[in-house]
Amino acid sequence: MNHDPSRTIVIVGGVAGGASAAARARRCNETARIIIFEKDAHVSFANCGLPYYIGGEIEQRQELLVASPELFRDRFNVEVHTHHEVTTIDRAAQTLEVRNGETGASFTQSYDRLILAVGASPIVPPIAGADAPNVFTLRNLEDTDKIKACIDKDKPRRAVVVGAGFIGLEMVEQLHRRGIETALVELADQVLAPLDPEMAHLIQEALEQHSVELHLGDGLKALSVTKGLARRVELSSGAVLDADVVILGIGVRPNTKLANDAGLALGPMGGVTVDEYMRTSDPAIYAVGDVVEVQHGVVGGPVRVPLAGPANRAGRIAGQHAASDTSPVMAPVLGTAVVRVFDRTAATTGLSVKHARKLGRPARAAIILAKHHAGYYPGGQVMTLKLIYDPTSGKVLGAQAVGGEGVDKRIDVIATAIHFGATVRDLAGLDLAYAPPFGSAKDPVHVAAFVACNDLDGLSPLCQVDEELAERQVVDVRSEQEVSRMHLRGAHHIPVDQLRNRLGELDPALPTVTVCHSGQRAHVAARILRQHGFGNVTDLTGGMFMRQRAKPDDVVR
Ligand code: FAD
Repeated sequence: MNHDPSRTIVIVGGVAGGASAAARARRCNETARIIIFEKDAHVSFANCGLPYYIGGEIEQRQELLVASPELFRDRFNVEVHTHHEVTTIDRAAQTLEVRNGETGASFTQSYDRLILAVGASPIVPPIAGADAPNVFTLRNLEDTDKIKACIDKDKPRRAVVVGAGFIGLEMVEQLHRRGIETALVELADQVLAPLDPEMAHLIQEALEQHSVELHLGDGLKALSVTKGLARRVELSSGAVLDADVVILGIGVRPNTKLANDAGLALGPMGGVTVDEYMRTSDPAIYAVGDVVEVQHGVVGGPVRVPLAGPANRAGRIAGQHAASDTSPVMAPVLGTAVVRVFDRTAATTGLSVKHARKLGRPARAAIILAKHHAGYYPGGQVMTLKLIYDPTSGKVLGAQAVGGEGVDKRIDVIATAIHFGATVRDLAGLDLAYAPPFGSAKDPVHVAAFVACNDLDGLSPLCQVDEELAERQVVDVRSEQEVSRMHLRGAHHIPVDQLRNRLGELDPALPTVTVCHSGQRAHVAARILRQHGFGNVTDLTGGMFMRQRAKPDDVVR
């Protein structure tokens, strides 16, 4: 094959971002020489599938190997060198030092365009015992093989997973599937940091229902090793957990050494700085994936989003630009993500209320409960959907959903809306597909948007789920039976259907909050009160269902 002598594209790292870059580069330039150096044994494997292979849901290891070096050679004319680590970049000479991990020999490779797709490495805390052979991190197939071999061979009874992020939770689910008693340790006082605490609580409940021992707000302090194996996990609180296997899922650090040593600019979040074409501070060098900082679509600033979607999209852009000097630009990211934890799914996009508060940015939220398809059609699964918006412009800032089927679809719809700068009014007007097995004529996305519009229009302003209720006249409009199970301290109880006849029991001059199970009846009640001269009425968004999770101390059982 003749190569374009003027262009050698070298890609460092051959998995999510690197493999995408290579394939796109070839499709855009048939004559360039394209080389991938990958320090490990495999390219283009499915990182995201690794937990499911360990758990046995994916049965064949082969399924994880998305594209082989042979396929890259035959279909894309890309030279793949596994077990080859790039150790240095000489930017002035446009060359790399490459070490062959099998022979130990090093050689120099020149490049015209270089794409760094070197990913990130799992964080391992600097504590004794972290290097014991039954303590694992999960990043690649080698890690996977070790964890699976340990489970298959040693048949551990007790596992401790440290870190309740996406990978930690997936591992908890899959260890449970393998019949291993599992404890989950998390330093924050909630699982799934990107979610607001009351939404994350719904996932914590799923974990508890599956007998996962939760240790929230507690840190890993020490691992005590007996006969070479970590057998006890000591936590900052003093708790000690027995373990046959320990999985560390406490986050990743971008692999910036190569870039940093070469003098490429790093950003405030510790990742490589890139422009909209994924070019670093050296225009001949691109970087993509977990190693870079990208623009956030809501917050605006540079963020690190170590997820497969942005890595693949950025790889495609960098590959095209490196091959042809032109490409579309990288769109800002929203951190859209989804995870299954047993029978529950949690998904998120954009900004959380928690994060907005940290930034000092005004944000309001509407929380609704709705079935994923028409209630009268069998099998509807309830989801909790939280829609976050700007109180002035109505711009959608974020959303979170926890439930069963259909959670991913709603979050993807809202992520699309945020991408295009939509407001809650735009969401309320979306023309979405509907037939009873699939959705509702008023989809959960619409319902959340209607509630948000009512809030912004002053038609039915919302009381936020964790707002202080002291000093307010709280009117619980649920049935006797519901109230007998659980109620808010100090609330008046008037069922919604009796409200018009019992208005005299309430003081219209007081700021009033209406409450029901999930918010629907409270909205009806708020409208009745307002139209009967109550000047300051709000309804509690998410109702008792979410209040008990956001402010458990306010609830009497
Ligand atoms: P990687 O895909 O990690 O590839 C980097 C490669 O570079 C590695 O193979 C590494 O060996 C190689 N390399 C590093 N340095 C050198 C060097 N000097 N020379 C040569 N080669 C080098 N994301 C989601 O969006 N959804 C999910 O469900 C999801 N699940 C995940 C589950 C697991 C277990 C893991 C580990 C990750 C998951 N992710 C998920 C994250 C996603 O896989 C990453 O964001 C994505 O792979 C990042 O792509 P990348 O190209 O930057 O890095």
